[in-house]
Amino acid sequence: MLNLVLFGPPGAGKGTQSEKIIDKHKLVHLSTGDLLRSEIKAGTELGLQAKTLMDQGILVPDEVVIGMIDNKLKENKEAAGFIFDGFPRTVKQAEALDNLLHSYNEQITVMVALVVDEEELAKRLLLRGATSGRPDDQNVDLIRKRIQEYNEKTTPVADYYRQQGKYVGVDGIGEIDEIFITICNAIDTTA
Ligand code: ADP
Repeated sequence: MLNLVLFGPPGAGKGTQSEKIIDKHKLVHLSTGDLLRSEIKAGTELGLQAKTLMDQGILVPDEVVIGMIDNKLKENKEAAGFIFDGFPRTVKQAEALDNLLHSYNEQITVMVALVVDEEELAKRLLLRGATSGRPDDQNVDLIRKRIQEYNEKTTPVADYYRQQGKYVGVDGIGEIDEIFITICNAIDTTA
């Protein structure tokens, strides 16, 4: 099984690269942001609670996203592997993911981290906000808040995988296809 954590700040290109990686490796895409947005769309209690936090650029509680991932792993027992996009976002989530995977005798193969500087991220997110309809991409203060949450709570997750020898950093600035090739090489050397 190939279990990939695609890591990086908001706007780093995780969604774009996920699609290409999935096409090639036939993985199941698990994006906690997408899962939360579908809960909001469906008007569930979980969605309502998550929306209040997401609208402020704050992370939703660990238990909520861990529970969603747990369900998805159960639903996809026949998968060739998973790509985790926007998850884990805290060390607690990373530990929970390791435990869940261990219960299936599985583990994370590699973390690919897309590296993009803050100014470029803000530019990309505002551009995306103009067409995506995502409210959290349309306001500079909200974008800064998300990047701040990332710097404070999510960057330690990179060290978590570094300590396991699973971290690979990839320059996230440049042509989409060139970045994809670099990611593929990183996967091929570790998987
Ligand atoms: P981006 O990475 O562009 O900010 P996402 O779609 O991954 O977008 O996430 C949007 C919002 O959903 C986040 O700002 C956060 O509030 C919430 N969220 C998504 N994934 C997680 C997670 N793993 N843990 C906590 N909150 C999350």
